[in-house]
Amino acid sequence: MRKSTGKPLPVRSDASGFIFVPLGGTGEIGMNFNLYGCDGAWLAVDCGMGFSGPETPEAEILLPDPAFIAEQRDALLGLVITHAHEDHIGGVARLWPQLRCPVYATPFAAAILRRKLSEAGLGREVKLHIVKPGGVIKLGPFGLRYIPMTHSTPEMQAIAIKTSYGTILHTGDWKFDSDPVIGTLSDEAALQALGDEGVLAIVSDSTNAMVEGHSGSEAEVAKSLKNLVNDLSGRIAITCFASNVARVASAIAAGKAAGRHVALVGRSLGNYVAAAQESGYLQDVPDFVPDEDIGAIPHDNLLLLVTGSQGEPRSAMARIAADTHRYASLGEGDTAIFSSRMIPGNERAITAVQDALVRRGVDVITDEDEFTHVSGHPARDELRKLYRLVRPQYIVPTHGEWRHLSTQAALAQEEGLIALLLENGDVLQFGPGTPAVVDTVPTGRLAVDGERVVPLKGGVLSARRRMLFNGVIIGSFAADAQGRLLGPPKISAPGLLEEADVRLLRDAEEEFFESLMDLPDALRRQDEPFADAARASLRRIVGKRLGKRPIVEAHLHRV
Ligand SMILES: [Zn+2]
Repeated sequence: MRKSTGKPLPVRSDASGFIFVPLGGTGEIGMNFNLYGCDGAWLAVDCGMGFSGPETPEAEILLPDPAFIAEQRDALLGLVITHAHEDHIGGVARLWPQLRCPVYATPFAAAILRRKLSEAGLGREVKLHIVKPGGVIKLGPFGLRYIPMTHSTPEMQAIAIKTSYGTILHTGDWKFDSDPVIGTLSDEAALQALGDEGVLAIVSDSTNAMVEGHSGSEAEVAKSLKNLVNDLSGRIAITCFASNVARVASAIAAGKAAGRHVALVGRSLGNYVAAAQESGYLQDVPDFVPDEDIGAIPHDNLLLLVTGSQGEPRSAMARIAADTHRYASLGEGDTAIFSSRMIPGNERAITAVQDALVRRGVDVITDEDEFTHVSGHPARDELRKLYRLVRPQYIVPTHGEWRHLSTQAALAQEEGLIALLLENGDVLQFGPGTPAVVDTVPTGRLAVDGERVVPLKGGVLSARRRMLFNGVIIGSFAADAQGRLLGPPKISAPGLLEEADVRLLRDAEEEFFESLMDLPDALRRQDEPFADAARASLRRIVGKRLGKRPIVEAHLHRV
């Protein structure tokens, strides 16, 4: 049973043995936040963010609620990062002030994280330890080993977590790819060796558990992009995730091979490319065209690498589609290549951008038309291969929605393994004894609201949701100590009434005035009861006129 957040949480410090608690990322996309406990000590693995959907329009960026571990952060020995994707590191800068533990990451993930931490003013405060791919970390009862795996961003590391109760392999996001273009192959020898030592369970990526066969090779996409770019004339824009450094490299190579100059359009591309170069990747790329020179390059010699493959409204591709980008544009005879997949929930936003491009005469090519994308997550044959290398007793599916988790559970069972299905907040005890869910801890979601982080189900955002649908009415009036009104009250109703409604507003103000005058003298001498009564009559007066139930505020100025 899960409890909502926003109220005091019980603290559990009696969690004994070796336990696993997903606080986010299980049964949902994004927001990966995992806890491992061993005899009272805690370890966190990844701390991601997610994007809000149409069901919560009052929020844009969501975070897992860390309250459960924040309450016992003295026992939290560290936060270990598997890789640099937003759904694994995007929550660190916002949530670290509640965790205050050392952070461990590879050079590339650290380069990305350092930027985010300094933007949040935490650059100096956070102890960021850089661990080489394949390196080891010792944290109290946890012996950790990074195992390099291939993924759609460099330096993704699975984590072997060894304790006196046994070893767990936490996979992070991964795939097998014999030619990943950038970065290393998944370390099959290390997985095999770990299996030889004995592994209790794999906490395993479920994203593509419903996909038969193999995820496909990044090198094949590189080849396909090269052919595609070579055959096209006019301006070409390729959009992909900025964090997919291999794809960025393939797009740059395709441009170079076709004699095109490459421009990076969009801030996150610049950030990821700079972080990649700091970490030793993308060393032999040509100079990029500065933004202000884009317009001077002949169309047939230009390749734009653009952010916004998910239709993000403020992204470079959305602005190009709306023809509001300051430097880059596309039109008749040009091509936009979406080298990405539609992440569930983003379909409408992506389609809107593609539609706007088509309306401008741009030819739009997606992974449905051409071979422009492969996934960074394991399909079923790759999962089977991992199981056979590592030979665990148990599979704990994570990272996916419920249908992905249960599909991986069924696959594991076909392979003779025991699957343990969890929801966020479940406390799985690996040992001593047989693994079992022994408890549930509170979980929840937080929303980033400007500079603050607030509970998604809390007062601020539920008021915002009501304002969105019902509007807000503010009545203000001044009275002296005896409760005598000093002039007529004012009503304003942003989002409900406009200038043309002046008549309605004046009538309401008049009725409001009368209702205030009618209140008993004794009541009008007390601030709070006076304001409460004013709010009640305002709600009645406006509700009657508009047929709505807006949020109502009454401000009494005691003069
Ligand atoms: Zn990832």
